[in-house]
Amino acid sequence: MDVQGLRKAFGELEVLRGIDFSVARGEVVCVIGPSGSGKSTLLRCVNLLEEPSAGRVTVAGTEVTDPDVDIDRVRRRIGMVFQAFNLFPHLTALENLTIAQRRVLRRDRDEAERVARANLERVGLSDKASAYPAQLSGGQQQRVAIARALSMDPELMLFDEPTSALDPELVGDVLAVMRALAQEGMTMLVVTHEMSFAREVADRVVFMDGGVIVEEGTPEQVVGAPQHERTRTFLARVL
Ligand code: ATP
Ligand code: MG
Repeated sequence: MDVQGLRKAFGELEVLRGIDFSVARGEVVCVIGPSGSGKSTLLRCVNLLEEPSAGRVTVAGTEVTDPDVDIDRVRRRIGMVFQAFNLFPHLTALENLTIAQRRVLRRDRDEAERVARANLERVGLSDKASAYPAQLSGGQQQRVAIARALSMDPELMLFDEPTSALDPELVGDVLAVMRALAQEGMTMLVVTHEMSFAREVADRVVFMDGGVIVEEGTPEQVVGAPQHERTRTFLARVL
């Protein structure tokens, strides 16, 4: 995944002011930064939930920002997990995992269910296939949401503060699933306030403030020995 000269304005408000960075295949990059710095907007520009004002975004060799690109084709290769779980409340966990596979990837029922069960197992929820979202804890719902994204065989997974709506005791299970995914070699771009996750799992950490990347580097560099005052101020508040 590669972002070059990415800008996004909402009217007069410049939210992204020239972002350049890339995530190599199999790499895990964590994005940190204060509220309003543009982290979610950056993620939403990568899968064109927001249309960039300028710049180029390339995912797995396809230029997403090419006006001729079939955005639905690109989007189905990008898994996205939000703070809110966004499961269909009237469908079971299994059905939440099969519906897009059947409608978008045109998999038949058996194939979609096979993939769904494998991914429920991957997130430790084999026994919850028939449960409805309301019957699951927040952490379990978020793991179903991750399994749903994985069922589409994504080339890239985007996470936007996936644990920040969870009760503290449920955060660990979700982070463990993400850690396992990273170890399996998934390419991941993760907005998070979980500094211990960023330190242990990220190959690189990007610190954003005011719509620009202030600094980036290994977790040891950015979290352990930040070079910029803004990074230090931010870390002092979250660590
Ligand atoms: P947080 O940590 O609180 O999630 P963030 O870094 O994800 O913050 P963004 O959600 O990307 O920040 O928002 C960056 C700025 O863009 C904010 O000032 C926000 O109000 C503004 N913004 C985001 N989406 C829109 C929109 N659709 N229309 C207008 N302004 C927006
Ligand atoms: Mg955000």
